[in-house]
Amino acid sequence: MSADVGDVIAGIPTDLYIDGAWVEAEGGRRFGVTDPATGAVIASVADGSAADGLRALDAAARVQESWGRTPARMRAEILRRGFELVTARAEEFARLITLEMGKPLTESLAEVAYGAEFLRWFSEEAPRVSGSYATAPDGANRLLVRKRPVGPCLLITPWNFPIAMATRKVAPAIAAGCTMVLKPADLTPLTSLLFTSVMAEAGLPAGVLNVVTTTDPGAVSGPLLDDHRLRKLSFTGSTPVGRRLMAAASERVLKVSMELGGNAPLIVCADADVDEAVEGALVAKMRNGGEACVAANRILVHSSVAEEFTEKLTARMQAFVVGPGSEASTTLGPLIDERFRAKVAALVDGAVAAGARVLTGGAPAEGPGYFYPPTVLAGVRADMAIVREEIFGPVAPVIVFDDDAEAVSSANSTEYGLVAFVFTRDLDRALRLSEQLESGMVGINTGVVSNPAAPFGGVKASGLGREGGAEGIEEYLETVYVGIRDPFATAERSA
Ligand code: NAD
Repeated sequence: MSADVGDVIAGIPTDLYIDGAWVEAEGGRRFGVTDPATGAVIASVADGSAADGLRALDAAARVQESWGRTPARMRAEILRRGFELVTARAEEFARLITLEMGKPLTESLAEVAYGAEFLRWFSEEAPRVSGSYATAPDGANRLLVRKRPVGPCLLITPWNFPIAMATRKVAPAIAAGCTMVLKPADLTPLTSLLFTSVMAEAGLPAGVLNVVTTTDPGAVSGPLLDDHRLRKLSFTGSTPVGRRLMAAASERVLKVSMELGGNAPLIVCADADVDEAVEGALVAKMRNGGEACVAANRILVHSSVAEEFTEKLTARMQAFVVGPGSEASTTLGPLIDERFRAKVAALVDGAVAAGARVLTGGAPAEGPGYFYPPTVLAGVRADMAIVREEIFGPVAPVIVFDDDAEAVSSANSTEYGLVAFVFTRDLDRALRLSEQLESGMVGINTGVVSNPAAPFGGVKASGLGREGGAEGIEEYLETVYVGIRDPFATAERSA
């Protein structure tokens, strides 16, 4: 291990966190965490079992009642301290994210700021949970409606945004008064472990947040989903795994939130500002190296601007500096592992075999690490696998269209519906398309929609529920209605 890597991981916890203590996994089992820029193992982390998961749920269930009754202001202040501590340690978090996930340091810093903002946002939402007291329409009974925490939650996160995907669930759960078992992705467990230690420092009581890292997620989640004490599953990850977990959660009719895969169309209309569209497409495509659920997966360009757009996009893609994320000059890091790189390569090869043309990139890099170059494909057709599947890599397939109706029908011809991007200078057209596109989010003349103050989430096979915004905390609350006899009835009887 190099001295640099040693510096980054020094002091990062590597055990399970259960009931306020760092503990070994059953049988002392551990697994290796890899740096995708080199393929080298950089740390070993506790490999939790089904029994470890249940121990974590024991702790969460035991403190649920007392935690749920803490004043919202107290929960808010813990979240606020968490925000301040994560922000103060942003460099440390960013170096760790880059090390285990691969993205360039500047992007890791941006993710830490984005992730920390969920802590601040939900610290502000916690005291705003309210209810209502109303008179029934017939003027008799009273209707009291209040919210309460749903109960112990299982939170499962992916590897692509190691801190933000955790804070997007943990923060609203804390704000609502829920306890939880967090199961981070085994490819990037270290960031969640550091975040957990920071939340303990921020004053989160023992048992509220428990973390179980594991290489066998099904073995850990199965018994939890079967346990009557668990009340909620919030999952971010791929659609196939989400489907399986929803099926398992249906047995006990758990409340579920699902943030699943995407296949975002980015539509460049005939009247778009082409330079602005190129910049927007670059961000929508290349943020996180293309390893984002909101990544532009299909770039649909009107035939009248297709040549200019494609030329300019290709030039900008060629300007990326590919290398380890820890180097200051790097603007594109490695993919997360060989499996994901092989999938990207197979999709590109398949498209080329079916007639697409490579304008830049197009083949995996040699040498250590899981690098794949920025790639632009022209001559792409809607029937190719590369536009039907989530690419999750730095590949921009360009499809040409002739009118808006064709663009909308092509954009909607997928089971996914997370986000769509539209570039146009015509306000009516922008609003028309935003109403016609089947997606939970639409970006107009921007390549980024993610914002902690906005409801993030998809329709169709991209998921259920929303994270962030005023909606985010609702996922962790349930509504209780108390029907009350007319308070004047007794007065009238005794009058
Ligand atoms: P994944 O589905 O393979 O894994 C996600 C998480 O689920 C990981 O923690 C993994 O260990 C766990 N998991 C896997 N199998 C499981 C099982 N049988 N039981 C319980 N848990 C299990 O996804 P990934 O490769 O980590 O992430 C990439 C995917 O996540 C992409 O499809 C991407 O679009 C999606 N994603 C969606 C959003 C969103 O907000 N919609 C955000 C980020 C990523």
